[in-house]
Amino acid sequence: MAEQADKSAQGPTLKEQLWDPVAGFGVTFRTMFRKVVTEQYPKEKLPTAPRFHGRHQLNRWPDGLEKCIGCELCAWACPADAIYVEGAENIDDAGDGTSARFSAGERYGRVYQINYLRCILCGLCIEACPTRALTMTNEYELADDNRANLIYEKSDLLAPLLPGMEQPPHAMLLGEDDQAYYRGEFAAPAPTGASASQPAGGGA
Ligand code: SF4
Ligand code: SF4
Repeated sequence: MAEQADKSAQGPTLKEQLWDPVAGFGVTFRTMFRKVVTEQYPKEKLPTAPRFHGRHQLNRWPDGLEKCIGCELCAWACPADAIYVEGAENIDDAGDGTSARFSAGERYGRVYQINYLRCILCGLCIEACPTRALTMTNEYELADDNRANLIYEKSDLLAPLLPGMEQPPHAMLLGEDDQAYYRGEFAAPAPTGASASQPAGGGA
């Protein structure tokens, strides 16, 4: 105790006066010369990781039919209860010669909604989907100023029609048989841009 009292009576040492204040800025000085990692969002938008979980997409077959068969497995898999699906029967001949076929299965998703107020972008729904109808894009700008806009309807989620695709409803534009259809060997009109054998839609 007496030794401590002596030291404080002597005041700070030369090291404490000169070196310690400089050493305190050591981290600051070192960091000043490092590459800046701050992202200037939203002025500059950098690409995400390739498998980033962003907004969902409902994909199409290359003839334009929807891949979703309205089975609701995605809704059952969702831990946040964010998906609502109502299925309906496809009808090849509605009686007046017209077709009410929207997907390549027996049924299609007549109503399809994802509530992004609930969704935690976990990806369990896309794992559950048996037809790869549902995938996730890299789009992450999902903020809005009202709740209603964050419930995405089927029309918001459907992949756009690529060249060579026809807007459903229409018959399956089959190759030789059903298997050829699902392998992507179509008798559809040759697309002008994308390859006919490439399934529509990206995502993880
Ligand atoms: S990503 Fe997860 S939380 Fe979002 S809809 Fe799919 S299962 Fe539900
Ligand atoms: S998105 Fe997939 S899992 Fe969900 S209803 Fe459609 S086919 Fe079924």
